[in-house]
Amino acid sequence: MADNTNTVLTGRCYCGAITFTATQKPQVVAYCHCESCRRATGGVAAAFAAMDEEAVVFKPNEGRIVSLTPEVSRKFCADCGSSLTGRYAYLPGQVYLSVGVIDQAADLAPQIHAHDAERLPWLHIDDLERLAATARSKINSSPK
Ligand SMILES: [Zn+2]
Ligand SMILES: [Zn+2]
Repeated sequence: MADNTNTVLTGRCYCGAITFTATQKPQVVAYCHCESCRRATGGVAAAFAAMDEEAVVFKPNEGRIVSLTPEVSRKFCADCGSSLTGRYAYLPGQVYLSVGVIDQAADLAPQIHAHDAERLPWLHIDDLERLAATARSKINSSPK
């Protein structure tokens, strides 16, 4: 875990084969209700923490990559299947950590719902702002 005083976040996949540390709090935390995120994570919704790429270090690595479109690449633990990260060509320099694998997830309440138009109709979470499609404008304008 945290052997670096600059570490503010730690985490691991389900089986523990992959761990990570981050030296920065998330720029924004967002639910994503899109079908791709549901399938990639197996959850009824996903939640991601937006981070600067250079602020996150994975051990021994970030896992196996799956990329169905040139714009999006996701990584997961090849041993247990935990969804770890997403990267988006239209959000350069950022990596999106799956909130569920972060040890401090209890402190990382999301601020927004992305792709609410694809939300499962029976799923109701809080009363945050909802964007029918991508939240990229909010994510890009978030303070660092
Ligand atoms: Zn694992
Ligand atoms: Zn999504």
